[in-house]
Amino acid sequence: MVDESVFMKIPYGLYLLTSKNEYKDNGCIINTVVQVTSNPNRIAVCVNKQNYTLSMILETKKFNVSLLTTDTPFEFVENFGFKTGKAADKMAYLKNTGISENGIIYTKDNVSTVMSANLIEKVDCGTHILLIGEVCEAMNISDKEPLTYSYYQKNIKPKPKAKKSGGKVWVCQICGYEYDEEKEGVAFEDLPSDWVCPLCKHPKSDFELLK
Ligand code: FE
Repeated sequence: MVDESVFMKIPYGLYLLTSKNEYKDNGCIINTVVQVTSNPNRIAVCVNKQNYTLSMILETKKFNVSLLTTDTPFEFVENFGFKTGKAADKMAYLKNTGISENGIIYTKDNVSTVMSANLIEKVDCGTHILLIGEVCEAMNISDKEPLTYSYYQKNIKPKPKAKKSGGKVWVCQICGYEYDEEKEGVAFEDLPSDWVCPLCKHPKSDFELLK
């Protein structure tokens, strides 16, 4: 058997992955970044195929990765992680920014480091694509504590509120979205099997019934 909770124990960080095409800068939140070689400095990042940022990277072959810090507010993650940059200008959320040598905007708030890389290889992993990039610029932005996925889950992601509703409430374990059938006016015995979270697009299996 495969116990899914095993995967939740793998330590991850949280990162802002950004790119820029001829129209705009854009970014998304990812949790998989590793340095794969040091001579030359190459990194691997894993991105969901549904992310608009990915299509920009495949087109321009350039991307930045910023390591987030523990002072990152939930609104930051919400802005970059739970909506698409196809329609929205996610970068408008950022206040204190700079531009790296490759021309991509980076934030100086809520980050520890920024790396700029040129795409040299990609591996199709099914739902995700693994990108291998050669680092062309690496900057320290602050000495603040790096943000791990576990810290985010415990301290930044909003806690589910105590159940007040008379109906069933399902909570997305990934982003905290709540489906309250009393509020929505549509009651389910169980969530439909093709259910996806309207915020983070994770499937029904990531939802838990609030007791
Ligand atoms: Fe969600």
